[in-house]
Amino acid sequence: MSDVFSSLVGQVGVVNALRRYAEQPSHAYLFTGPPGAGKLEAAVAFAAALECPDHGCGTCDECTRVLRGSHPDVSIVARAGVQWSVDEIREAERVARRRPLHQGHQILILPSIELSTNAAPALLKTLEEPPRRTIFILLADELPEHLVTIESRCVEVNFHSLSTEDILLVLEREGVPAVQARTSAEASAGNLDRARLLANDPQLADRLAAWRRLPEMLTSNSPASLATSTLAALEGAVEPLKARHAEELDQFKTEAEGPGRRRVGGVKEVELRHQREQRRFRTDELRFGLAALTRTYRERMISSLEGVADGDARGRTDARSAIACIEAIASSSDALSLNANESLLLTNLFTQLSRL
Ligand SMILES: [Zn+2]
Repeated sequence: MSDVFSSLVGQVGVVNALRRYAEQPSHAYLFTGPPGAGKLEAAVAFAAALECPDHGCGTCDECTRVLRGSHPDVSIVARAGVQWSVDEIREAERVARRRPLHQGHQILILPSIELSTNAAPALLKTLEEPPRRTIFILLADELPEHLVTIESRCVEVNFHSLSTEDILLVLEREGVPAVQARTSAEASAGNLDRARLLANDPQLADRLAAWRRLPEMLTSNSPASLATSTLAALEGAVEPLKARHAEELDQFKTEAEGPGRRRVGGVKEVELRHQREQRRFRTDELRFGLAALTRTYRERMISSLEGVADGDARGRTDARSAIACIEAIASSSDALSLNANESLLLTNLFTQLSRL
């Protein structure tokens, strides 16, 4: 079936549900799931399906306008600061009360609604007294406590992380060359936004090659020195993100100090968000490296087992040692989610690997 949802990848359950909801819409939806899972793309497609007389044919005037971002009754509401402000939610409510210009609904899409600690009561009030022809689509990467009541007023739609193959499909469709697309997809941790960032990162292939070479390097270098060089490469990888954050912070400060501007959220909050994003980037990057390392050992294991079949006596021992290495990497990867010290973690892992 070719319709407005056809271009969404990897969310079959979500798409089936949205096709059903489009025929008998409710007044508020909450799309939840990890960053880069395609929530915004899905929200726009859903909005088109809601406006379309055929529930999302993908070709009529209503569908085309929504997908192009030029439908007068569909708004993606943006916020200025780190958090949604009460004023911004009130402004959204004002738009929500407008009569739709076309035959369909007045639709408001609000991204990152988890960032609404102070504005949540205003948002809740809006959802409790919904104008008849208005539909809210709220998006959230996570569900903090202040969203629980809001959640109970919405139909919830859960997104999961995309698979490597799904992301590869999107990148290739967007014209990223095959090898770069494959590497970026594998390094993306199921996050399409990260994959798009990596697809434009010229150093990615070098970092991947360094991880793949590591077992060989361990025979002639100390684990501590390899941990140091791996961390230096990680610093290099996070550099573009840091530069972007520095720019964003400068702009935020200028805007907050400008005449007639009201401060929306503090500098401290921006810095905290940046720290969170950088930490997430580092963890994803290390996970990607460990996955590449695992692949190297898996290849070793397979070729050792082939050796056994050919009568090589050492093959069995080599395969066993490769399996032990894969297990050691897996437990380091688990430890990453517990905020382990990166330097210590890598030194320990590399020491183990050099002994196995
Ligand atoms: Zn249509």
